[in-house]
Amino acid sequence: NSASKKPPSPSPLRFSKFFQSNMRILVTGGAGFIGSHLVDKLMENEKNEVIVADNYFTGTKDNLKKWIGHPRFELIRHDVTEPLLLEVDRIYHLACPASPIFYKYNPVKTIKTNVIGTLNMLGLAKRVGARILLTSTSEVYGDPLEHPQTESYWGNVNPIGVRSCYDEGKRVAETLMFDYHRQHGIEIRIARIFNTYGPRMNIDDGRVVSNFIAQAIRNEPLTVQLPGTQTRSFCYVSDMVDGLIRLMEGENTGPINIGNPGEFTMTELAEAVKELINPEVKISMVENTPDDPRQRKPDITKAKELLGWEPTVKLRDGLPLMEEDFRLRLGVSRKN
Ligand code: NAD
Ligand code: UDP
Ligand code: UDP
Repeated sequence: NSASKKPPSPSPLRFSKFFQSNMRILVTGGAGFIGSHLVDKLMENEKNEVIVADNYFTGTKDNLKKWIGHPRFELIRHDVTEPLLLEVDRIYHLACPASPIFYKYNPVKTIKTNVIGTLNMLGLAKRVGARILLTSTSEVYGDPLEHPQTESYWGNVNPIGVRSCYDEGKRVAETLMFDYHRQHGIEIRIARIFNTYGPRMNIDDGRVVSNFIAQAIRNEPLTVQLPGTQTRSFCYVSDMVDGLIRLMEGENTGPINIGNPGEFTMTELAEAVKELINPEVKISMVENTPDDPRQRKPDITKAKELLGWEPTVKLRDGLPLMEEDFRLRLGVSRKN
């Protein structure tokens, strides 16, 4: 799916040129949930030097505290809507709020982050010959009319709704990636990420897994938004990070769906959380928000074939790992 008439790629400058296999890697949004787990994994390789650029809108330094001061690690307070001059070999471009309550909080800023932020990172990639990976989203499929969603589906997206700053923003970001690829020969990778969960998710970010786990621990009713039959597929964060690194280091531009095809209704998710975390907790049905997709499940044939990747952590195994982290942060220990 690469362009047929591609101009020659700029030769990679290899900034860590004295040691050919060394990599200098920029992670935008690296102080966030997925970004900080990605940084942990990249830092495990002693040949990697990692730079995080983040404006701390939804991320925190706390997520990276074990790396602050490490000689192969650097943390920069930077907003990607402003130009950034660095010398790197790889760019994982994650910067963008991912939870609906945060991306709707300042929608104009969200779209600037997606459009101007991605343009700047592509300009940087072009200047230094770096390979760039964009974390796009299953939201580019909107309220899908095809199920499960394959990468060739063009989506069913409301261009003027309250979610559009995010889903249309990511669609433009994907367009920019492909235009830089075709026009300037930039090496690109696009991951379409489906709902991901795990430790370090923002406790009050309003996403369904973090809400249910926090509610179960606090013994507050689990708020299932109506109708409760809407579905999502949840991928544990370590599987996600593994998929992103394989995509970056593989040969395919994507877009490639990365997610767990195990599909659950929100009522089923609430029941699983209740059973695993707090059998006493109540489940209450509440109002939903506009444009909520009714069903979502990735077709991961491409990821399996092209990246040799598939998720390994089942929801029932991932939820308790997240519970442990939430209990620590909420200061509520398990009653035995
Ligand atoms: P997150 O909100 O935890 O992390 C996003 C990070 O980007 C935060 O650290 C935030 O401070 C930073 N950021 C936001 N705007 C910025 C800006 N203008 N300049 C610099 N930094 C900025 O979210 P996450 O769940 O870790 O998501 C990471 C990426 O994955 C996002 O691009 C998101 O769209 C994508 N994604 C996530 C999911 C999911 O389920 N978590 C699903 C689909 C796609
Ligand atoms: N850019 C950046 N870092 C760089 C190179 C470029 O942030 O190292 C920004 C630059 O400010 C511009 C954007 O990336 O706004 C696109 O750059 P490009 O060179 O593609 O376009 P131009 O500058 O010609 O508009
Ligand atoms: N949801 C819910 N209860 C909550 C939060 C969300 O039932 O407390 C539902 C929401 O209506 C949606 C699904 O969970 O159908 C996933 O919502 P989330 O905001 O986590 O992610 P996204 O809509 O971006 O997939």
